[in-house]
Amino acid sequence: MLTVEEWKNRLECESCYDLISELFERIERSNLNAYITLCKEEALKRAEDYDRGKLKGKIAGIPVAVKDCISTKGIRTTCGSRMLENYIPPFDAYVVEKLKQEGAIIVGKTNMDEFAMGTTTETSYFGVVKNPYDESRVAGGSSGGSGACLGGNEAVLALGSDTGGSIRCPASFCGVVGLKPTYGLVSRYGLIPYANSLEQIGPMACCVRDVAILLEVIAGKDSRDSTNAGKSFKFEDKYGDYNFKIGIVEEMGGNEDVNCRFEEVVELIKSMGFRVGKVSMPSFKYALAAYYIIATGEASSNLARYDGVRYGFALDNLDSWTRYFSKVRSLGFGEEVKRRIMLGTYALSAGYYGKYYLKALKVRTLVRRDFERAFSEFDLLISPTMPALPFKIGELADPLTMYKMDVNTVPVNMGGIPALSLPVGFVRGLPVGLQIMGNHFEEEKILSFALKLENYITETI
Ligand code: GLN
Repeated sequence: MLTVEEWKNRLECESCYDLISELFERIERSNLNAYITLCKEEALKRAEDYDRGKLKGKIAGIPVAVKDCISTKGIRTTCGSRMLENYIPPFDAYVVEKLKQEGAIIVGKTNMDEFAMGTTTETSYFGVVKNPYDESRVAGGSSGGSGACLGGNEAVLALGSDTGGSIRCPASFCGVVGLKPTYGLVSRYGLIPYANSLEQIGPMACCVRDVAILLEVIAGKDSRDSTNAGKSFKFEDKYGDYNFKIGIVEEMGGNEDVNCRFEEVVELIKSMGFRVGKVSMPSFKYALAAYYIIATGEASSNLARYDGVRYGFALDNLDSWTRYFSKVRSLGFGEEVKRRIMLGTYALSAGYYGKYYLKALKVRTLVRRDFERAFSEFDLLISPTMPALPFKIGELADPLTMYKMDVNTVPVNMGGIPALSLPVGFVRGLPVGLQIMGNHFEEEKILSFALKLENYITETI
């Protein structure tokens, strides 16, 4: 897999134009279906600019893939949906502005579950993304294209978005690193929303250091996102000799395959000299149910704008307003999106609001308190990222079974804390990810620990 350092080394001896052309040849030959839209012309133009010394910045000349729910000026942004099949944003998201300022070359827009609703990228209108380790399996979701393009050498860096695990799941399934930042660290300006109170844009890459570099680029102050914390990020690796205290979350686990590798990794962590203990988070047994109430509630409100008049794809035959509206929505949205709009509308309705939505908000408070208590005792918490290995395409046909796969990732979004998925080896040739969680704005700790573990694992495997 490609790293920033390797790419920079290649740039010393080859032209950026040739390297980017070669990358596109690989993408065009690939079966992974990681990209919805390629930006070949613009990318090659930027590569020429780099070769002429006109492109400067922290990631100058580095090919970056951008999830297709992140707005890119003049480049089609579909959100994996027929509803936005032909939508071309007139502005760049904050993170895209930053990528451009730092000299990145945007390769294309990556495939994703429709409106980021899913765990396997099978709900995309543009077809399923295949796992780079086994093409009969899924790449995870919803940022499946961003995970697969890294695992398949089709980009060096990628942006994903994570509402309930959508960066960490594909990172885990594709054997790459993905970080969901603290809520508010990265501006959501220009991110097409699914569930605003839970989601963050975050970096994905083939190694921990590259995730840190990309986070430095995209974290920062932006007044156009009212939830933005106004903080920037600089990775200094200042926990060099720090003796981390690591908590294993008892309520987060996996099947036999995953647990077996997880336990081996815990032993590795102990042998590195870190203190390891167990921690119980009683609220987590309600977290998944509460997440699906909050996320679908926010989604039902966010997706109301796609009526074929104000937003979304339009039909020629203007019928009565209600018939037109429902026709556009019937044709424009897929099954999963419709299911969630209905679930969310029901949970927010006058008669059931108290019974479901308010209850879910109370659970969210309990989850936050459990994290506060745990972080008063431990520096970081760990668990398997996903409870299972990458699924066969079509294996998770029942929606409830799919929702249950988010059990380890959603508490993080409920708590607004940062978490990273680190590849920690393979079971039967398929990658396993370790989830490392930290307190609010402690990305530095997570990255320092992940870097140490990554080095240790590379040396011991
Ligand atoms: N799988 C979760 C869901 O479908 C998370 C998706 C995401 O993080 N965007 O809601």
